[in-house]
Amino acid sequence: MIIDSHMHINSIVLDDKTKYINAINKNFAIESVINVGLNYASSKESIDISKSNFKFFSSVGIHPLYIENQDLKNLYDLAISPKVVAIGEIGLDNIKGNFEEQKRYLIEQITIANILHLPVIIHSNNCNRLVIDIFERFVKPKYGCVFHCFQPDLEDLKYLVYNGFYISFAGRITYNNAKKSIEVLNAVPNNLFLVETDSPYISPEPLRKEINESSNIKYIIKKIAEIKRCSYEEIERITSENTKKMFRRLTL
Ligand SMILES: [Zn+2]
Repeated sequence: MIIDSHMHINSIVLDDKTKYINAINKNFAIESVINVGLNYASSKESIDISKSNFKFFSSVGIHPLYIENQDLKNLYDLAISPKVVAIGEIGLDNIKGNFEEQKRYLIEQITIANILHLPVIIHSNNCNRLVIDIFERFVKPKYGCVFHCFQPDLEDLKYLVYNGFYISFAGRITYNNAKKSIEVLNAVPNNLFLVETDSPYISPEPLRKEINESSNIKYIIKKIAEIKRCSYEEIERITSENTKKMFRRLTL
């Protein structure tokens, strides 16, 4: 069965959540989803959803574009909830905002993850080298790490693979201009890649104009199976095994 390792059903991005939650609950192909927080409120909401919907697990964290007025002390209280499987998404984003503050939040949240023995989900928008630099100079995730929606670069990939960190592929791998992502996919060992929708963002082909949903993960798996010349079932099996290894609390 499929695990969507990274999606968002929260107040920032969707008004009518019930419809999307029910669609996942009723979909027999989906084993579970990791509903990723972007700030304190959406992380708390993710935990609340997980309490009444058995397929839903949570990741809690402050995204680099949402750090304003976010107190990291509150994150500890959230992170000890039983269905929290990771800290994230956290990272660096060069679009806007206070970059020094983004770095401080990233360092502090990796530290929290290490204290609580949790893996981290990294968001890096054109900042892979800077994130790696923080790992080397300040604090490195000790209990697993995934670069979600990995921006393809074979040099960065070498570092991630050397450290046993995961790379996750979303809808972009299905696009016509995905040449570099395909190169990266072919270079990633089979034990180190995951699949995700990042829904409601980044809808895969052939549904690029629609709001993305977890069920669309099948298009991503299908495309990866084509690229790797193996069966759909094989990719489904590999990615769900990898996801359970990375997010150990999914199986507790
Ligand atoms: Zn995301």
